[in-house]
Amino acid sequence: MSRYSAFTLLKHGLSGNRGWPRAWRDPEPKPHYDVVIVGGGGHGLATAYYLAAEHGIHNVAVLERGWLGGGNAGRNTTIVRSNYMMPGNTGFYELSLKLWEELSRDLNYNVMFSQRGQYNICHSPAQMDAQRRRGNVMRANGIDAELFDRAEVQRRLPYLDYSPHARFPVHGALFQGRAGNARHDAVVWGYARAADRQGVDLIQQCEVVGFIRDGERIVGVETTRGPIRAGKVGLAVAGHTSHVAGMAGLRLPIETHALQAFVSEPLKPMIDTVISFATAHFYISQSDKGGLVFGGAIDMYNTYAQRGGLPVVEDVLAAAKAMIPSVSRVRLLRQWAGVMDMTMDGSPIITKTPIDGLYLNGGWCYGGFKATPASGFCFAHTIATDRPHRENAAFTLDRFAKGYQIEERGAGPHPNAQ
Ligand SMILES: Cc1cc2nc3c(=O)[nH]c(=O)nc-3n(C[C@H](O)[C@H](O)[C@H](O)COP(=O)(O)OP(=O)(O)OC[C@H]3O[C@@H](n4cnc5c(N)ncnc54)[C@H](O)[C@@H]3O)c2cc1C
Repeated sequence: MSRYSAFTLLKHGLSGNRGWPRAWRDPEPKPHYDVVIVGGGGHGLATAYYLAAEHGIHNVAVLERGWLGGGNAGRNTTIVRSNYMMPGNTGFYELSLKLWEELSRDLNYNVMFSQRGQYNICHSPAQMDAQRRRGNVMRANGIDAELFDRAEVQRRLPYLDYSPHARFPVHGALFQGRAGNARHDAVVWGYARAADRQGVDLIQQCEVVGFIRDGERIVGVETTRGPIRAGKVGLAVAGHTSHVAGMAGLRLPIETHALQAFVSEPLKPMIDTVISFATAHFYISQSDKGGLVFGGAIDMYNTYAQRGGLPVVEDVLAAAKAMIPSVSRVRLLRQWAGVMDMTMDGSPIITKTPIDGLYLNGGWCYGGFKATPASGFCFAHTIATDRPHRENAAFTLDRFAKGYQIEERGAGPHPNAQ
């Protein structure tokens, strides 16, 4: 398979773009692999890539019940940042951001990572205090952070509501300049192509419906395309984590909720950064095509339906209008939802499970897209070595029993509040 480069672009351009090779193969499943990864989203594909590239384990399959990137990887609002405060999260998300910064080069695929910066807008003196503390923790850990007062935010983001009667008054903002967006499909395709080049089999339309056991140990999976045996099985199925783990007899502290995303009609360049508003849980950026891309909180009931309910639509649009009054006449073009694996403390799980042969990656809540590179990197390390990497050592399953929760939001043991 040829490398993508300016030269190949020119060569194929001159020959009418008819000679491009397939980006990855479409193999039949083999009867046995060293490692089977369940779930062909960003995390599953990244795990397979790093298993091969970092650990020399090439006899790997990724099993995806639909098409690669058809889950949350292709449905999210693409915010990438590392402004985390809790031990465990801080180093992990910074590792991820560092991997993002090299990802296009590493994968030989343009993932369109754009470090346009991200603002966390504060609406009260108490929020300013909280963000100051967060910024100090970030800087103490070598992560970039700047605190802006109201005047500086108004200079940089003149389109927010600064009127005396604003529903959400602007007091200031915490800013991370290295944060930004990436193109979600490109991330999936980049990892898929790079994993395929390493010999990984990417098998679509292949749903895992059960597990094969030898005594207590898991030694493979039952799928809609037949049984596939494996030395080790890793789960990276995001919103379906509790369901799939349940088939192996594992009950998890995870609930599934829908999270909606929205895109407006295309506009001329207006928002050249990413903005999050703490009070109403609203975030917005602008895509390269001009659409405003935004979202809010999850739907507060458990569901696997990827639609989302109307109360959240109303809530998010009301927040958009309150924060940025000029969007009130913009037309909404599209809306969709994905299913989120919400944990009891809002932080993820990357671990070897108590069941021999079974490894778990899940509980990403609102924030798994930004985690994709580090999640794959650390999960691959955990599977390959049977030990966690330093940066996922805190993401254990038994932390809930032992009382070592990683509470970034301080919302208590309520998945819908994380
Ligand atoms: C609307 C929305 C906005 C978001 N915005 C952001 C954001 O701005 N920033 C951020 O960091 N995160 C965001 N997220 C979260 C992020 O998208 C997810 O945490 C992350 O994508 C999850 O990992 P994944 O990509 O591997 O998941 P997925 O892409 O969902 O991959 C899991 C795959 O497993 C497959 N699967 C499930 N069951 C089986 C089975 N039995 N057999 C085989 N395959 C199976 C599914 O089909 C799916 O393709 C958002 C999510 C949503 C829904």
